Amino acid sequence: SVRVRIAPSPTGNLHIGTARTAVFNYLFARHHDGKFILRIEDTDLERSRPEYTDNILNGLRWLGLNWDEGPFFQSQRLDLYREAVEKLLDQGLAYRCYTTSAELDALRESQKARNEAPRYDNRHRHLTPEQIAAFEAEGRTSVIRFKIDDGREIVWHDLVRGTMSWRGSDLGGDMVIARASSDGVGQPLYNFVVVVDDIDMQISHVIRGEDHIANTAKQILLYEAMGAKIPEFAHTPLILNQEGRKLSKRDGVTSISDFQKMGFTAAGLVNYMTLLGWSAPDSTQEIFTLDEAAKEFTFERVNKAGAKFDWDKLDWINSQYIHNMPVDQLTDLLIPFWEEAGYSLTDGRERPWLEQLVSLIAASLTRLVDAVPMTKMFFTEAVELTEEGSQQLQQEGVKAVLEAIITALENEPQLSPESAQEIIKQVVKAQKVKKGLVMRSLRAALTGDVHGPDLIQSWLLLNQIGLDKQRLNQAV
Ligand code: GLU
Repeated sequence: SVRVRIAPSPTGNLHIGTARTAVFNYLFARHHDGKFILRIEDTDLERSRPEYTDNILNGLRWLGLNWDEGPFFQSQRLDLYREAVEKLLDQGLAYRCYTTSAELDALRESQKARNEAPRYDNRHRHLTPEQIAAFEAEGRTSVIRFKIDDGREIVWHDLVRGTMSWRGSDLGGDMVIARASSDGVGQPLYNFVVVVDDIDMQISHVIRGEDHIANTAKQILLYEAMGAKIPEFAHTPLILNQEGRKLSKRDGVTSISDFQKMGFTAAGLVNYMTLLGWSAPDSTQEIFTLDEAAKEFTFERVNKAGAKFDWDKLDWINSQYIHNMPVDQLTDLLIPFWEEAGYSLTDGRERPWLEQLVSLIAASLTRLVDAVPMTKMFFTEAVELTEEGSQQLQQEGVKAVLEAIITALENEPQLSPESAQEIIKQVVKAQKVKKGLVMRSLRAALTGDVHGPDLIQSWLLLNQIGLDKQRLNQAV
């Protein structure tokens, strides 16, 4: 059965690259009716933070990437790793290495001088009991190294990249699997604990970024040493920035919580991420739910080449989700943005009114946060006049038009769409002006600008919270 996992390290907020890998794991699990497991790789005690773990869990939940098992924390599984290290030591597949960092530096220097790639020369692979005793008497601590034979050939069939082939000699010598410690086995390291966990959690497919390819070669040797079945591997393409380089912190926004703050919807962002390196069999189809994408998801349709991050496409997809969302749901999503902006949702600006406001602007939104500037005029007492708005108000005849509207409003304290239209009609007739002038002037007085959302609807909303008369009076 298919069992996959996402294994983020809580050394930062949930990164878009990790989230995209989570999406592919999730889609693959759902496609095969398998399990999606969450493991938090928090063995690096110095760099791991609980707030990053929270950010990762919240981010995955927000995106709807619900996991079936976990979260498991590596920091709570140290006994398991220690046992596995002991076993490799007992079997002679790993050994204690007492080489000091000064000796390693000297080795690196001499390799550099000969123009050789840095690698450990396996010098402590065959220490005698006397040598070990002498090192320990000196007070040296030891790391645990796993033996890697230079002549070994490591081949796997990657589900994205095809046949991959490495030589043992490419892997930098016997690898450290646990750090030094005065009491035996120290902190176990990434490449080792990943394999112990993937075996223990019976992971069938390891789906992760292509930056892990060299790790995979090492990890395959560990699977063999531990007598476990080797899973399938799928290395997904990297996400690239506009210059075609790996997307990094320097590119600005990279964490899911940042995308959330910028006003992307979870569904829109997930939809976009499914397309970062994958396409549906009908490649013209770009909008789909996770379930729909899961039906179609196979690694044959995952690209080898890096996936360029495309803000325009993300915006377009996001706008589709906003435009097609039921009003009450969109209102729920917008309320936190208004609250964050300090707009107070009181004095008539409660739910039914808010939903009308949302209907008014929904089609103009690309990101949720766009609603903040777009609706400012509904949440402030006075309007901010734009250049064009103020020019409009200074035009000849405008004052008379606005005064006529004010008078008409006295008999119509509560506007309806019909009565609003009727007032405009009456004013056109009485003032002998064009309808366009009335509309533009009314808009400028009410909203401060000559462009904006539907005028009659805007007027009705302002009327409901008693702002229309006030603004008309201000303008004359
Ligand atoms: N903790 C690793 C990372 O965040 C996991 C890699 C893997 O999936 O094995 O890159």
